Amino acid sequence: MKPVGKSSIGIVGGGQLARMLVLAGVRLGLRLRIYDPSPEACAGAVAPLTCGAFADATALLSFARDLDVLTFDFENVPASTLAALEADVHIAPNPTALAMTQDRLSEKAAFSALGIPVAPFRAVSSSAEMAQAIRELGVPGILKTRTLGYDGKGQARIREASQAQEAFASLALAPCVYEQMVRFERELSIIAVRSAAGDFRCYPLTENVHDDGILAVSLAPARATERLSEMAQSYARRVAEHFSYVGTFALEFFHVHENGQDSLILNEMAPRVHNSGHWTIEGSYCSQFENHLRAVAGLPLGSTALRQPSLMLNWISTLPNARTQLMQANLAWHDYGKSPRAARKVGHSTLCADSIDELARQLAAMQASAPTRAGELANELLRSYLDSST
Ligand code: AMP
Repeated sequence: MKPVGKSSIGIVGGGQLARMLVLAGVRLGLRLRIYDPSPEACAGAVAPLTCGAFADATALLSFARDLDVLTFDFENVPASTLAALEADVHIAPNPTALAMTQDRLSEKAAFSALGIPVAPFRAVSSSAEMAQAIRELGVPGILKTRTLGYDGKGQARIREASQAQEAFASLALAPCVYEQMVRFERELSIIAVRSAAGDFRCYPLTENVHDDGILAVSLAPARATERLSEMAQSYARRVAEHFSYVGTFALEFFHVHENGQDSLILNEMAPRVHNSGHWTIEGSYCSQFENHLRAVAGLPLGSTALRQPSLMLNWISTLPNARTQLMQANLAWHDYGKSPRAARKVGHSTLCADSIDELARQLAAMQASAPTRAGELANELLRSYLDSST
């Protein structure tokens, strides 16, 4: 077996996830390279960047030829391109899970078959199917394109039956799934990792707040009973083992409390490191990024245990003032080096403290000096967390 420092890993996609993978990998002595269509890809600032289209199998093959393993920060590389590479390149996680998550319909079918609850849904690829889905599932609901949707893009909320055809037209009549709107207590996610040797670990359940369909705040540990955490872990284990998955992935859930019963409804899987796991860099012993690299490089996994309660604030569109942020003790500042753009993730901050009370105190100090939208949402979350625990 190669010494750790000789392992070379290629990452398809050069966004902030790749950038944070590189930052973790350099520390381990791994050699990392990036493939992305854009010369501006922000991971290109920290590792050699090769530019090429995601659908260009020839360019990808020449990028990957000398690598030990190819992995992803982006799940929309065409499945056919991956199939063409598989004979020559070791790909982790294996492309089966990736292909499944590229289509919301196959994703829901796969999870249902694994006994993991999903929101009631119907496939919609014509006006007649749209009308039938509304008749069968009612409103409110969400129409989502089957492919290429993320961060609330490719979605239309339907509150009245009369809006349905217009919503379908607004998504360019693309093949969709219509989902019943879930009335949830909160949104939770679990970040899990499985090594090549089959070792499986989960980080503590994380509680998430979205703003306009985009993740704004994550808090770990989530408000959740032991039973709910075990449920999330057992779903994650089922997925990991079913796909012989190697690497980090995330499952995003709605926590539903109905008739005195708690349940988890799976919204989606991300077959990669995930935004709701950024807090693991400072808040756990071995981050989701390091553990992903350890897994795909065939190394032993590190501990996923929580070091300290952690709160992550996502910076969307523009960054707040860095100097003001840096004045806050215990705050980790992450600037992805991207130019500002509406709805773009440009950075995040993580606060770690010994208690939720202390996190709330630090956040209040930050908000008093420089209020932000994410800070406001985090403040509401911490208040309700503290109220529910008294
Ligand atoms: P998605 O792109 O599927 O992750 O959706 C983005 C966000 O929209 C989720 O995190 C939820 O806040 C909301 N959402 C999506 N699907 C549903 C649903 N079936 N019921 C309620 N909220 C939803």
